[in-house]
Amino acid sequence: MQTQSAFGIDLGGTKIEGVVLPYRGSTEPIARLRLPTESASGYQHILSQIAKLTKMLEEKSGIKASSIGICTPGTVDPKTGTHKNSNTTCLNGQFFLQDLKNTLGIPVAMANDANCFALAEATLGAVKAIAPQSKLVFGIIMGTGVGGGLVFDGKVWNGAHGIGGEWGHNFLDESGGPCYCGLSGCVEKVIAGPALENYYEKISGSKKSLKDIVSDNEIGSDPYSIQTIDRLIHFFGKSVAVLINILDPDAIVIGGGVGNIDLLYTKGVKEVEKYIFNKELDTLFLKPALGDSAGVFGAAMLT
Ligand SMILES: [Zn+2]
Repeated sequence: MQTQSAFGIDLGGTKIEGVVLPYRGSTEPIARLRLPTESASGYQHILSQIAKLTKMLEEKSGIKASSIGICTPGTVDPKTGTHKNSNTTCLNGQFFLQDLKNTLGIPVAMANDANCFALAEATLGAVKAIAPQSKLVFGIIMGTGVGGGLVFDGKVWNGAHGIGGEWGHNFLDESGGPCYCGLSGCVEKVIAGPALENYYEKISGSKKSLKDIVSDNEIGSDPYSIQTIDRLIHFFGKSVAVLINILDPDAIVIGGGVGNIDLLYTKGVKEVEKYIFNKELDTLFLKPALGDSAGVFGAAMLT
């Protein structure tokens, strides 16, 4: 076991959270602090907020950071070194990773939220608890969007474009319509929360939250809710089968608001089984164990 402490920071749209773990692999931080992101104040302000939080973490823990891991929205383009695909848009196009290294004066490792989620659940959370022998873990995030992260042998696999695991923009079905990414029929446009709520509205003529659609489907009181959840299960099966045929991971952890739906682990998995290139489906489908802490713990595990 390494005895060196690990610093992790989770940069969100509204808050920046940081932890100091006494050693890599611990889930009991010796310091845990947060600051508002205040992204409206711009790029330089975000850099100085991260520097401020790092200093606060050092003071609270009494440990000087020798390196730091950071979980960010968006990712570094390996070709240009600039940040891209972030919904905190002032980061896009900036040499964010390099600027952070310069600001903090220590090595910085960076990964997007889905990768940090996958890394945390693989090395500290659900996979570690249930199937620690897993070599390849896929972390799915299904919420207002759909993302994913790949962890191979305890390390994030970023890929040649920095888009490893981004299955949310695979083509799934034309009925999803145009996506903000410029493509059409993306996974995200079919099975993310807003896509399901839009579908419900289209077939029923009225609005309903996904939470109510899920509970009305369980009661069986509303045919449109049943139809919407059937659509989710069907397309979850089709889209996850593609992942399994290509990557064949040992375990898949499902996070995010849509990922909380219990039916995914029963009917959803049965549906995946229909579409894979194998008679049996042995992939483990696991519920996440770390909740909102996955980002910040995953960040610390990047170092
Ligand atoms: Zn898309």
